[in-house]
Amino acid sequence: MRIVLLGPPGSGKAELSKKIATEYDLPIITQSSVVDTAASESTELGRLAAEARDASRISDELLLHLLRLQLPRMDLRRGYVLVDMPKNSGQADLLDSVLLDLGRPIDLVLNLEVDRDDLMERLVGAIECDSCGASYNMYVNPPMVDNVCDYCGARVRRRPDDYEETISNRLRDYDMQMGPLLQYYSLAEKLQRV
Ligand code: ZN
Repeated sequence: MRIVLLGPPGSGKAELSKKIATEYDLPIITQSSVVDTAASESTELGRLAAEARDASRISDELLLHLLRLQLPRMDLRRGYVLVDMPKNSGQADLLDSVLLDLGRPIDLVLNLEVDRDDLMERLVGAIECDSCGASYNMYVNPPMVDNVCDYCGARVRRRPDDYEETISNRLRDYDMQMGPLLQYYSLAEKLQRV
């Protein structure tokens, strides 16, 4: 089974991909796993990958190059779960060419669709323990004592990324990128909306 899993931040992609991967014994491939693997190597390419990662500027060319190097080394016989990748229709095109060369084209693209209000509540409500990393939600799953972690007693707070304005900007950027990407897979008749 060769799957691409797409969805906005907070849609539960990570959890779902783990379930699918465990159920069918498939590797999970994400942009950050690919870049981290490259960055851990002490080569010129590794240095470039680390630099791009730290600056949050991973070009399509670099990603394609890393995929061309790494995908053939992975055991993809049973399939794979790609998460959060591709991020745009340009990357989708590049990815298709790499996967076709390997004889392992994508079977199915699942797009997780979540009601925008639910998503905002989930994201804006997300709070995290400074110390142990336990996560809570102010609205649906708050700690027992306000702002105090149930597990370790440290302070619980929002990450700066999770303020409402930042989140709505992130979601808007996401929608803008996703339009052409979804169209790409829809034309290829691989898209399923969940
Ligand atoms: Zn804690």
